[in-house]
Amino acid sequence: MSKKIKEIQIFRHIIQIILFFLLPGVYILAFSELKSIFQMIIRGNFNFIQSLPGLIEFTVAIIFTILMGRFFCGWFCAFGSFNDWIHIASKKILKTDFKISEKLDSILKYIKYGILALILIFILTGKNDILNGTSPWDAFAQITNFSTVISTITIGFIFLILILIGNIFIERFFCRYLCPLGAVFSLISKISILKISKPTEKCGNCRICTNNCSMGLKLYSIDNIRGGECINCLRCVETCHRENPHVNIINTEVNSATASSFVVAIFAGIYGITNFGNSISIQKGLASSNAVISSTVSQGIKYKDGDYPGTGIGFNGGTTKVSVTIKNSKINAIKTISTEDTPDFYKNVENIIPNKIISTQSTSSVDTVSGATYSSKGIIDATQNALNKAK
Ligand code: SF4
Ligand code: SF4
Repeated sequence: MSKKIKEIQIFRHIIQIILFFLLPGVYILAFSELKSIFQMIIRGNFNFIQSLPGLIEFTVAIIFTILMGRFFCGWFCAFGSFNDWIHIASKKILKTDFKISEKLDSILKYIKYGILALILIFILTGKNDILNGTSPWDAFAQITNFSTVISTITIGFIFLILILIGNIFIERFFCRYLCPLGAVFSLISKISILKISKPTEKCGNCRICTNNCSMGLKLYSIDNIRGGECINCLRCVETCHRENPHVNIINTEVNSATASSFVVAIFAGIYGITNFGNSISIQKGLASSNAVISSTVSQGIKYKDGDYPGTGIGFNGGTTKVSVTIKNSKINAIKTISTEDTPDFYKNVENIIPNKIISTQSTSSVDTVSGATYSSKGIIDATQNALNKAK
């Protein structure tokens, strides 16, 4: 294994660790935003430009995955990184060496599409409340508040434990078989401009890359890997002693160290630019005013113009106070006055939930942000409390 290639794996783990702490909830937000888009499409009020401030994570992840494949999964997703570390630790400590049969593996990979379809059907039929408390992501995101997780996300916590056990034996167990976001990425990454080429005629009987593939792909029978189940961990490139697999961008061979640095820079760039644009639009009030202009989804309730305070209970029983501005009988702005919520969760919903309420002119049809359900509810309840005073 060459020194240069080994450095790529070290680089990947460093990026994973940094993003685990810097952007721990991007995968949760991205999936929550996907659900919001689906809900808005069903209701016939989806307007991408107006909704963009609340769709940053999903938009960035989608653009990035269409262009570069599933680097998001292999390098940036906190839950995927956690899966990696559990498997590495169990291999080292428990000396596990379980190999699932290729046939069973390829069948189980379809489960994630079933889970995605099921979630969308629940949303379509307005029964998505059934899923509350069942998400292992929610349990994982709030695990530091263990007692709350046990009492409020009990089923999600049980799923999380089962996923951990599965992951001890099968690398990327959740990503391979269960992740609904991974299902979306798997479908859209098939058109990415980045691929790994690996001419099999140079392989002979060697199966080193197959045996080392994070996602259990049958690499011995594939010449080109473009998206799909591949998470671009680049371990196949790393382990091949013949240096047969290569990264290609638009059919041009690219040095893998350069490619991975380029991809990390692109992700940081897209995420940074989009967030910057978002914060400017929020500062200028574009998001809220545009949403108000287009909104026709009033619940038929007349509100008196003015500013109204309201309170709601958020995560861990913390009180959230908001001020709701009514203008021309419409919800025009929702500002946080104070909150006792956990800052890490609150920052994930502080802009998203008010924008959703404003764009739908409703508190009842707003989906909570997965991973910050109680923080979302704090804002929704506080807004409703204020609206009751404005009727
Ligand atoms: S498959 Fe899902 S959990 Fe795994 S890395 Fe991708 S988004 Fe994250
Ligand atoms: S094919 Fe290569 S880059 Fe893709 S998941 Fe497998 S080892 Fe990683």
